[in-house]
Amino acid sequence: ARFADLGLSPMLVQALTDSGYTSPTDVQVRAIPAALEGKDLRVASNTGSGKTAAFMLPALERIVAARGDSNRREKGKVHGPRVLVLAPTRELALQVAKAASTYGRHMQGLRVATVVGGVPYGYQLKALRGPLDVLIATPGRLLDHLNSGAAVLSNLETLVLDEADRMLDMGFIEDIETIAQHTPENRQTLMFSATFAGHVGKLAERLTRNALNIEV
Ligand code: AMP
Repeated sequence: ARFADLGLSPMLVQALTDSGYTSPTDVQVRAIPAALEGKDLRVASNTGSGKTAAFMLPALERIVAARGDSNRREKGKVHGPRVLVLAPTRELALQVAKAASTYGRHMQGLRVATVVGGVPYGYQLKALRGPLDVLIATPGRLLDHLNSGAAVLSNLETLVLDEADRMLDMGFIEDIETIAQHTPENRQTLMFSATFAGHVGKLAERLTRNALNIEV
Protein backbone atom coordinates (compact mmCIF):
# COMPACT_ATOMS: atom_id res chain seq x y z
CA ALA A 1 0.00 0.00 0.00
CA ARG A 2 0.99 3.63 -0.45
CA PHE A 3 0.19 6.57 1.84
CA ALA A 4 -1.50 8.43 -1.04
CA ASP A 5 -3.94 5.51 -1.46
CA LEU A 6 -5.05 5.74 2.17
CA GLY A 7 -6.90 9.01 1.56
CA LEU A 8 -4.33 11.47 2.90
CA SER A 9 -3.81 14.93 1.41
CA PRO A 10 -0.66 15.58 -0.64
CA MET A 11 0.71 17.91 2.07
CA LEU A 12 0.62 15.09 4.60
CA VAL A 13 2.06 12.55 2.14
CA GLN A 14 4.86 15.03 1.41
CA ALA A 15 5.70 15.32 5.11
CA LEU A 16 5.98 11.52 5.30
CA THR A 17 8.23 11.45 2.26
CA ASP A 18 10.35 14.16 3.93
CA SER A 19 10.65 11.88 6.97
CA GLY A 20 11.85 9.02 4.79
CA TYR A 21 8.73 6.88 5.23
CA THR A 22 8.31 4.83 2.06
CA SER A 23 5.20 2.82 2.91
CA PRO A 24 2.61 2.65 5.68
CA THR A 25 2.92 0.06 8.43
CA ASP A 26 0.26 -2.60 9.03
CA VAL A 27 -1.54 -0.60 11.73
CA GLN A 28 -1.49 2.50 9.52
CA VAL A 29 -2.98 0.62 6.53
CA ARG A 30 -5.81 -0.65 8.68
CA ALA A 31 -6.50 2.34 10.92
CA ILE A 32 -6.11 5.39 8.66
CA PRO A 33 -8.91 4.74 6.11
CA ALA A 34 -11.37 3.75 8.86
CA ALA A 35 -10.49 6.81 10.96
CA LEU A 36 -10.92 9.03 7.89
CA GLU A 37 -14.42 7.60 7.47
CA GLY A 38 -15.15 8.87 10.96
CA LYS A 39 -15.24 5.48 12.65
CA ASP A 40 -14.28 4.94 16.29
CA LEU A 41 -11.33 2.57 16.68
CA ARG A 42 -9.98 0.22 19.32
CA VAL A 43 -6.47 -0.63 18.27
CA ALA A 44 -4.38 -3.24 20.06
CA SER A 45 -0.81 -2.40 19.13
CA ASN A 46 2.56 -1.80 20.66
CA THR A 47 5.18 0.90 20.51
CA GLY A 48 7.19 0.54 17.33
CA SER A 49 4.17 -0.39 15.22
CA GLY A 50 3.77 3.12 13.87
CA LYS A 51 0.68 3.74 16.01
CA THR A 52 1.37 7.44 16.52
CA ALA A 53 1.09 8.16 12.80
CA ALA A 54 -1.94 5.83 12.65
CA PHE A 55 -3.94 8.29 14.79
CA MET A 56 -2.15 11.58 14.06
CA LEU A 57 -2.43 11.43 10.27
CA PRO A 58 -6.24 11.02 10.13
CA ALA A 59 -6.59 13.60 12.92
CA LEU A 60 -4.54 16.10 10.89
CA GLU A 61 -6.45 15.21 7.72
CA ARG A 62 -9.69 16.22 9.41
CA ILE A 63 -8.14 19.58 10.29
CA VAL A 64 -7.08 20.04 6.64
CA ALA A 65 -10.67 19.32 5.59
CA ALA A 66 -12.19 21.57 8.27
CA ARG A 67 -10.10 24.55 7.20
CA GLY A 68 -12.35 24.98 4.19
CA ASP A 69 -15.06 26.30 6.51
CA SER A 70 -12.99 28.58 8.72
CA ASN A 71 -16.00 30.92 9.14
CA ARG A 72 -17.37 28.36 11.54
CA ARG A 73 -15.13 29.79 14.25
CA GLU A 74 -15.87 33.18 15.78
CA LYS A 75 -12.99 35.54 16.27
CA GLY A 76 -11.89 36.40 19.80
CA LYS A 77 -13.61 33.43 21.38
CA VAL A 78 -11.88 30.46 23.01
CA HIS A 79 -12.94 27.40 21.04
CA GLY A 80 -10.52 24.81 22.29
CA PRO A 81 -8.82 22.12 20.22
CA ARG A 82 -10.38 19.97 17.48
CA VAL A 83 -8.13 17.06 18.44
CA LEU A 84 -7.10 15.93 21.93
CA VAL A 85 -4.53 13.19 22.53
CA LEU A 86 -4.27 11.84 26.09
CA ALA A 87 -0.98 10.13 26.92
CA PRO A 88 0.26 8.54 30.16
CA THR A 89 3.53 10.39 30.61
CA ARG A 90 5.08 13.70 29.89
CA GLU A 91 7.77 12.04 27.74
CA LEU A 92 5.20 10.31 25.53
CA ALA A 93 3.12 13.49 25.27
CA LEU A 94 6.16 15.42 24.07
CA GLN A 95 6.95 12.67 21.52
CA VAL A 96 3.39 12.79 20.20
CA ALA A 97 3.57 16.59 19.94
CA LYS A 98 6.78 16.29 17.97
CA ALA A 99 5.10 13.82 15.62
CA ALA A 100 2.17 16.22 15.13
CA SER A 101 4.54 19.03 14.16
CA THR A 102 6.53 16.75 11.85
CA TYR A 103 3.51 15.31 10.03
CA GLY A 104 1.83 18.74 9.97
CA ARG A 105 4.87 20.65 8.77
CA HIS A 106 3.26 21.58 5.44
CA MET A 107 -0.03 22.64 7.03
CA GLN A 108 0.21 26.38 7.34
CA GLY A 109 -0.12 27.66 10.88
CA LEU A 110 -0.98 24.34 12.51
CA ARG A 111 -1.31 25.03 16.22
CA VAL A 112 -0.17 22.25 18.53
CA ALA A 113 0.01 22.64 22.32
CA THR A 114 1.18 20.32 25.07
CA VAL A 115 -0.20 20.29 28.60
CA VAL A 116 1.75 18.06 31.00
CA GLY A 117 2.48 17.95 34.70
CA GLY A 118 5.67 19.04 36.39
CA VAL A 119 6.00 22.32 34.53
CA PRO A 120 4.63 25.82 35.32
CA TYR A 121 1.03 26.70 34.43
CA GLY A 122 1.73 30.10 32.85
CA TYR A 123 2.76 29.06 29.37
CA GLN A 124 0.07 26.37 29.20
CA LEU A 125 -2.62 28.92 30.15
CA LYS A 126 -1.48 31.17 27.35
CA ALA A 127 -1.53 28.30 24.83
CA LEU A 128 -5.03 27.24 25.92
CA ARG A 129 -6.43 30.76 25.47
CA GLY A 130 -5.15 31.10 21.91
CA PRO A 131 -6.39 29.36 18.78
CA LEU A 132 -5.53 25.68 18.91
CA ASP A 133 -5.86 22.70 16.59
CA VAL A 134 -4.24 19.80 18.44
CA LEU A 135 -3.83 19.48 22.20
CA ILE A 136 -1.67 16.73 23.66
CA ALA A 137 -1.98 16.22 27.39
CA THR A 138 -1.45 14.02 30.38
CA PRO A 139 -4.80 13.51 32.17
CA GLY A 140 -3.99 15.02 35.58
CA ARG A 141 -2.78 18.40 34.37
CA LEU A 142 -5.52 18.68 31.74
CA LEU A 143 -8.12 18.06 34.44
CA ASP A 144 -6.65 20.95 36.48
CA HIS A 145 -7.11 23.22 33.45
CA LEU A 146 -10.67 21.95 32.90
CA ASN A 147 -11.59 22.55 36.54
CA SER A 148 -10.21 26.09 36.43
CA GLY A 149 -12.07 26.78 33.19
CA ALA A 150 -8.86 27.39 31.26
CA ALA A 151 -9.36 24.40 28.95
CA VAL A 152 -12.45 24.11 26.76
CA LEU A 153 -13.27 20.81 25.04
CA SER A 154 -16.80 21.58 23.86
CA ASN A 155 -15.73 21.80 20.19
CA LEU A 156 -13.60 18.67 20.20
CA GLU A 157 -13.95 16.46 17.12
CA THR A 158 -11.46 13.67 17.81
CA LEU A 159 -10.40 12.18 21.16
CA VAL A 160 -7.35 9.89 21.11
CA LEU A 161 -6.25 7.71 24.00
CA ASP A 162 -2.65 6.63 23.51
CA GLU A 163 -1.38 3.74 25.65
CA ALA A 164 -4.70 3.54 27.46
CA ASP A 165 -3.61 0.50 29.50
CA ARG A 166 -0.67 2.45 30.91
CA MET A 167 -2.91 5.40 31.75
CA LEU A 168 -5.14 3.06 33.77
CA ASP A 169 -2.12 1.46 35.46
CA MET A 170 -1.14 4.96 36.54
CA GLY A 171 -4.54 5.53 38.13
CA PHE A 172 -5.95 7.94 35.54
CA ILE A 173 -9.28 6.18 34.93
CA GLU A 174 -11.47 8.73 36.74
CA ASP A 175 -9.58 11.65 35.23
CA ILE A 176 -10.10 10.19 31.75
CA GLU A 177 -13.83 9.69 32.32
CA THR A 178 -14.20 13.25 33.62
CA ILE A 179 -12.26 14.63 30.67
CA ALA A 180 -14.45 12.64 28.25
CA GLN A 181 -17.56 14.12 29.91
CA HIS A 182 -16.29 17.58 28.91
CA THR A 183 -16.24 16.57 25.21
CA PRO A 184 -19.17 16.34 22.75
CA GLU A 185 -20.93 12.98 22.68
CA ASN A 186 -20.73 12.84 18.90
CA ARG A 187 -16.93 13.07 18.89
CA GLN A 188 -14.77 10.44 17.22
CA THR A 189 -12.78 8.30 19.68
CA LEU A 190 -9.58 6.47 18.73
CA MET A 191 -8.31 4.22 21.48
CA PHE A 192 -4.86 2.62 21.41
CA SER A 193 -3.68 0.09 23.99
CA ALA A 194 -1.38 -2.91 24.25
CA THR A 195 -4.40 -4.84 25.55
CA PHE A 196 -8.16 -4.40 25.80
CA ALA A 197 -8.60 -6.94 28.59
CA GLY A 198 -10.18 -6.04 31.92
CA HIS A 199 -10.71 -2.40 32.87
CA VAL A 200 -9.36 -1.05 29.57
CA GLY A 201 -12.00 -3.03 27.70
CA LYS A 202 -14.71 -1.66 29.98
CA LEU A 203 -13.43 1.88 29.45
CA ALA A 204 -13.43 1.28 25.69
CA GLU A 205 -17.08 0.19 25.87
CA ARG A 206 -17.97 3.42 27.64
CA LEU A 207 -15.96 5.77 25.41
CA THR A 208 -16.36 4.30 21.90
CA ARG A 209 -19.42 3.68 19.71
CA ASN A 210 -19.62 0.92 17.08
CA ALA A 211 -15.84 0.82 17.17
CA LEU A 212 -13.78 -1.13 14.68
CA ASN A 213 -11.39 -3.49 16.48
CA ILE A 214 -7.91 -3.69 15.00
CA GLU A 215 -5.23 -6.06 16.24
CA VAL A 216 -1.71 -5.92 14.90
P1 AMP B 1 5.42 4.40 17.13
O1 AMP B 1 4.95 2.98 17.09
O2 AMP B 1 4.34 5.37 16.79
O3 AMP B 1 6.10 4.73 18.43
O4 AMP B 1 6.49 4.60 15.95
C1 AMP B 1 7.73 3.94 15.97
C2 AMP B 1 8.74 4.57 15.01
O5 AMP B 1 8.44 4.24 13.66
C3 AMP B 1 8.81 6.09 15.07
O6 AMP B 1 10.17 6.44 15.14
C4 AMP B 1 8.22 6.54 13.75
O7 AMP B 1 8.83 7.74 13.31
C5 AMP B 1 8.50 5.40 12.82
N1 AMP B 1 7.48 5.21 11.76
C6 AMP B 1 6.15 5.29 11.89
N2 AMP B 1 5.53 5.00 10.73
C7 AMP B 1 6.50 4.72 9.83
C8 AMP B 1 6.48 4.35 8.45
N3 AMP B 1 5.35 4.17 7.78
N4 AMP B 1 7.67 4.12 7.84
C9 AMP B 1 8.82 4.28 8.52
N5 AMP B 1 8.91 4.62 9.82
C10 AMP B 1 7.75 4.84 10.49
